[in-house]
Amino acid sequence: MRVVLAGCGVIALLTAVECVSAGHEVVLADQADIPFTGATSFDRHRVLRALHPGDLATTSAAVGAHHAWIELEHLLSTAFYEQSGALTAVAAGEATAVRDLLNAAGSKAEVFGADELAAEFPHAGFVPGTGAVFESHAGILLADRVLAACAGWLRWRANAELHPHRKVIGVDADRAEVRLADGGILRGDAVLLAAGPWSRELLAPELARELVLHRQTLLYCDVPPADAAAWAATPAITSLGSTGGAWLVPPVAGTPLKLSAASACRVVDEIGGPTAPSWWREHLIDTFTALIPGFRRDWLIDTRDCHYLARRSTLGPMLAVLGDRVLSYAACGGSSFKFAPLIARSLAARLTGAAPAPTGLEPLDRPLVRASGVHPIRPALRGVS
Ligand SMILES: Cc1cc2nc3c(=O)[nH]c(=O)nc-3n(C[C@H](O)[C@H](O)[C@H](O)COP(=O)(O)OP(=O)(O)OC[C@H]3O[C@@H](n4cnc5c(N)ncnc54)[C@H](O)[C@@H]3O)c2cc1C
Repeated sequence: MRVVLAGCGVIALLTAVECVSAGHEVVLADQADIPFTGATSFDRHRVLRALHPGDLATTSAAVGAHHAWIELEHLLSTAFYEQSGALTAVAAGEATAVRDLLNAAGSKAEVFGADELAAEFPHAGFVPGTGAVFESHAGILLADRVLAACAGWLRWRANAELHPHRKVIGVDADRAEVRLADGGILRGDAVLLAAGPWSRELLAPELARELVLHRQTLLYCDVPPADAAAWAATPAITSLGSTGGAWLVPPVAGTPLKLSAASACRVVDEIGGPTAPSWWREHLIDTFTALIPGFRRDWLIDTRDCHYLARRSTLGPMLAVLGDRVLSYAACGGSSFKFAPLIARSLAARLTGAAPAPTGLEPLDRPLVRASGVHPIRPALRGVS
């Protein structure tokens, strides 16, 4: 089969790798470079944490994703997964249940009391009195390297065509073809729209309205040389136990320390540039000055804003069926990168007519959103042409 993919972030690139590995032909088009530094997927790192509190199915799926990334490193002959483990602050009364959940999902886990945590990670900035759970089947994905590895692998396949700088402006689901801004048409047997935060532009209004755009500010820092060894031995920290939901990614494999917080995420109307507004930068500087011992603003080497979509009703991703073998997958923040190998497997199976294996993830295993009306595509085409 010939599968056309619109967008070349982690979702489309991994789906293309799946399709090609299964013997199919792929055609990928991106509005910019492949990979594009402005894509949500393009960052120094993304965290893979298995823990989804109180949710064994999703936690087990994330442990499966951990193993899938290791397999992908072998397939793509590139190292991009630092298996550093992850630490998450949890209330003392919940630590044992969290550890048991992780063990049941197939990950090793260890509880750190507040004193142990403060002694082991004094530099990290956990809120005093907080305990945490360490999970071993977790770590840091070097996101930009993942994208480069996928694009590089695809470039060498005879059955993969890559079209950078070809913006998609609409999809005809009856014909399984996408229309390009330059007047071209890419036709296939199946189509996947995976346009990340830009997905709303390619969907009919009733679907686009389901998706809410979020923007988040990130700080990138160099740590003082005296602390470098301690930071290098630190796992990903997905919660420091603060009320604002502060988290950090330690400097691994030559990357900077990355800092952000749930409180630095807001709903916006439109995709803006990557420059972080000063108010949000200062908010994060204040947040981490209060948390990390010795943190100073001159640690800062860069700031960036990123965007993602989330489905209004579930706050998760949205999979929409636009026609027979024409799908749209709008990823979401927090988890779509880490789950990308599982998402890609499931999407590739749906696109090529194979039976998708259960992933344990919504919305892949549940009935999909279908566009209402006679035909979901025409309004979208009208809207963008
Ligand atoms: C601040 C932040 C932190 C995050 N942290 C994590 C994390 O720790 N762990 C995790 O699992 N997930 C995390 N996520 C979520 C994850 O990064 C995203 O869900 C995922 O990268 C989205 O991938 P994508 O391929 O769908 O979209 P993107 O990476 O945005 O790719 C979409 C591509 O489509 C192209 N495109 C768009 N419109 C068109 C068009 N009309 N024609 C052609 N091409 C087009 C774009 O140029 C782009 O290359 C985070 C997200 C944010 C914002």
